[in-house]
Amino acid sequence: MAMVRKLETHGIRHPAVLAAMGKVERHRFVDSALANQAYEDTSLPIGLGQTISKPSVVARMIELLCHDRPGKLGRVLEIGTGCGYQAAVLSVVATEVYSMERLRGLHERARENLRLLRLANLHLLMGDGMLGFAKGAPYAAIIAAAGGNDIPQAWLEQLAVGGRLVAPTVTATGQQNLVVVDKTARGLVRTELEAVHFVPLKSGIG
Ligand code: SAH
Repeated sequence: MAMVRKLETHGIRHPAVLAAMGKVERHRFVDSALANQAYEDTSLPIGLGQTISKPSVVARMIELLCHDRPGKLGRVLEIGTGCGYQAAVLSVVATEVYSMERLRGLHERARENLRLLRLANLHLLMGDGMLGFAKGAPYAAIIAAAGGNDIPQAWLEQLAVGGRLVAPTVTATGQQNLVVVDKTARGLVRTELEAVHFVPLKSGIG
């Protein structure tokens, strides 16, 4: 609850997002040696050179996906399952979540972390998320937890009309920013937001 209050001071307002952040216990997703830091606003190592994102960044990105929509988000595609934390938060605010991970070790760790939570609407997939997951398309929302030099074409194609994508992406400034793409009936609308620091989006599986 202290973490949720801190998120409010970071400007997170959406009630469903705050409720989901309060519901999913972050300490279950990190190594027991790091559990005492689980509710601080910091990223933490999850093995294989990867990190679990800061709670304020997870909440910020999910709030961007929910923006002013009433009710639950529809089908969501997440690229970069990692330890499965953000996937669990998404599964609370969305009707269906497909989460992809390219590293088998993390895919399996996420499965283990999530087993006891029994989130029936969350589907973990092992594969290269740069290709998206066409079988689940179209998606109301797509969220990337790893940053690339541009937004893969497959994501834009698999986004529903009326849908929104949020991804850390290198911009003209040379740094990584959160980029929002809205797919409207008249085309794609791209908005660049604040600078962020995500692990790199990589192609292929490992
Ligand atoms: N949302 C995660 C954050 C994990 S860090 C969490 O809550 O823990 C980002 C993850 O993206 C890493 O596990 C990395 O292996 C994965 N990743 C990078 N490129 C990817 C790709 N092309 N497809 C799927 N996963 C990818």
